Amino acid sequence: MSGVNEIRSAFLNYFAKHGHEVVPSSPLVPRNDPTLMFTNAGMVQFKNVFTGVEKRAEPRAVTSQKCVRAGGKHNDLDNVGYTARHHTFFEMLGNFSFGDYFKELAIELAWNLITKEYGLPKERLLVTVFSEDDEAFGLWKKIAGLPESKIIRIPTSDNFWQMGDTGPCGPCSEIFFDHGDHIFGGPPGSLEEDGDRFIEIWNLVFMQFDQVAPGTRNPLPKPSIDTGMGLERIAAVLQGKHDNYDIDLFQALIRAIADLTGADPLGEQKASLRVIADHLRASSFLIADGVLPSNEGRGYVLRRIMRRAMRHAQLLGAREPLMWRLVWALVREMGQAYPELVRAENLIEETLRLEETRFRKTLERGLAILDEKSSSLKKGDMFDGETAFTLYDTYGFPLDLTQDALRNRGIGVDISSFTDAMDRQRAKARASWAGSGEAATETVWFGLREKLGATEFLGYETESAEGVV
Ligand code: ATP
Ligand code: MG
Ligand code: MG
Ligand code: MG
Repeated sequence: MSGVNEIRSAFLNYFAKHGHEVVPSSPLVPRNDPTLMFTNAGMVQFKNVFTGVEKRAEPRAVTSQKCVRAGGKHNDLDNVGYTARHHTFFEMLGNFSFGDYFKELAIELAWNLITKEYGLPKERLLVTVFSEDDEAFGLWKKIAGLPESKIIRIPTSDNFWQMGDTGPCGPCSEIFFDHGDHIFGGPPGSLEEDGDRFIEIWNLVFMQFDQVAPGTRNPLPKPSIDTGMGLERIAAVLQGKHDNYDIDLFQALIRAIADLTGADPLGEQKASLRVIADHLRASSFLIADGVLPSNEGRGYVLRRIMRRAMRHAQLLGAREPLMWRLVWALVREMGQAYPELVRAENLIEETLRLEETRFRKTLERGLAILDEKSSSLKKGDMFDGETAFTLYDTYGFPLDLTQDALRNRGIGVDISSFTDAMDRQRAKARASWAGSGEAATETVWFGLREKLGATEFLGYETESAEGVV
């Protein structure tokens, strides 16, 4: 059984052996794409190479890329703690061909890695192909020897990747692992596919066309390959676990939290332990890459993640700031692979400590209000958006924190009255500030907020389309 660190190295070494340049992870704040909130896939740092704007000396690359999916198009924040396979921060292992090899070698390399190097039993694997991609279908049959019943044709956009409205695009093939019939869920494309039985581990994207205009697609002269495999998901499989949070890395973090809080990792507080472990990683890596908590943009996503974890720390009975006391455990687990964590250790601790110290001042009172105002609600009811706004505005509760707090009782939040309250507040503030000496600055500020839209703190739909594998 190998640990996460060995599984990562084995991936990088395998592709290095097959002629791939080992390229370091790029930062979580994309350098070449201001429209993208966070790096959310391995291909992000190579976007310009795929479009032909940039040339690389080496036509093959392999990476383990830090990714955050907590805003924009790919937002897995609400899944964390509830599914076995989603994190806000995760590592995406990927191999890339820039106009070099294509489908056949990509499938062969992937198949040999998982079945030979990693030794996964073939009977537990199945794959999907885009419904029109007969070539991939044939290659899986030939190379992997999979029966046709385990090569599933999918007609939806899940199996067709596009960088944006125009630009490189193409079909993809996903590899799934069957965790066993004692776990709920059906194969991809089936009615119960949302369960945790069949887990997508690896996505192979075949960049084959150039979308020049809606409806017009030309074949690329030199097709490319972009793949992404979640390190935590393959680690779960290799460690014989059915849940990402049961792998060595997460168990070490969860133990550290349990030691400080006395929570039982197998008891009712399991979800809180997971959320804290996940959010500790996301927050720490974001801070290490230069993001600091603030009230807008990237900094607000970080704040939302931190505060959400802080509410769960409160649920575990923590009476003092907790998050900052966990950083050493993360550095112990991941500092060797990501030295930026070691370098930023003090900054991460201080940022977490300060944020939690401040937030704790209003957290308890906010939670008391939340409890009181929701006490008469039952499953299926809606929590009043005005109160959610007061919690946001006066007590510093990001909307998703309130939603998370009500979720396991099956209660939603009335978003439209929340937005109305926000709009009214904004209009009032604008009126009272007009004429003050700060008017000019405020105009700029409101202009910015306006540009971001009415739901600037909620949606973050500023991300470019499909910046991911
Ligand atoms: P899913 O359907 O399970 O949400 P996805 O199709 O959104 O995954 P891709 O965009 O294809 O994922 O990303 C490539 C790989 O990255 C996935 O096959 C998976 O192994 C991993 N991955 C994606 N999102 C997450 C996440 N939130 N946490 C952990 N791993 C992830
Ligand atoms: Mg997803
Ligand atoms: Mg998927
Ligand atoms: Mg996928």
